[in-house]
Amino acid sequence: GPRIGVLALQGDVREHVRILSSLGARALPVRRESELAGVDGLVLPGGESTTIVKLAVAFDLLEPLRAAIKGGLPVYGSCAGMILLADRLTNGGGADGIDGQPTIGGLDVLVRRNAFGRQVDSFESHLDAPGLPEPERPFHAVFIRAPWVEEVGPDVTVLAREPRADRIVAVRQGELMATSFHPELTGDDRVHRYFVDLVRTS
Ligand code: GLN
Repeated sequence: GPRIGVLALQGDVREHVRILSSLGARALPVRRESELAGVDGLVLPGGESTTIVKLAVAFDLLEPLRAAIKGGLPVYGSCAGMILLADRLTNGGGADGIDGQPTIGGLDVLVRRNAFGRQVDSFESHLDAPGLPEPERPFHAVFIRAPWVEEVGPDVTVLAREPRADRIVAVRQGELMATSFHPELTGDDRVHRYFVDLVRTS
């Protein structure tokens, strides 16, 4: 299977390793530039985006991550990982580092951090997921202090929306994809299958 790294600075790394392995990928944690150079694809896990960015800077990984994305490495970001991939943030930061911590960037989207409201730290929902495999089957999703996608650039495809808030919660642009929710925490492997296929065909 393809070698798929999981950025292992902070967050729910093990859950991604487990589901990727179950799909036949060779999943491995990535903490240094040399490990990044050896993977065919990369997952940016959920966690705390401000912490992950600080650690990426401390581990000299921010520029190598940006260079890998420019070079066409397939990357999937979940929750904090979506925030890290966004070119523009509201509620703190962006690829230019204005108004907060920098992001890695690459996805032509505006992402709102902690978007679903302070009172609602986490919730579950059934998504309309026309862009995922088996679109007729609703996608049961878990959101934890989750971002949403507020604006998308012309090359971005919407994969899923959260119907109650009527917001975009999964996107793809070329070799990059991101979800607001945590498919590694539920039994549904369609998002990871989609990503493993993307890595295989890229
Ligand atoms: N709110 C977190 C952040 O801004 C993301 C939460 C998550 O990844 N579950 O990084």
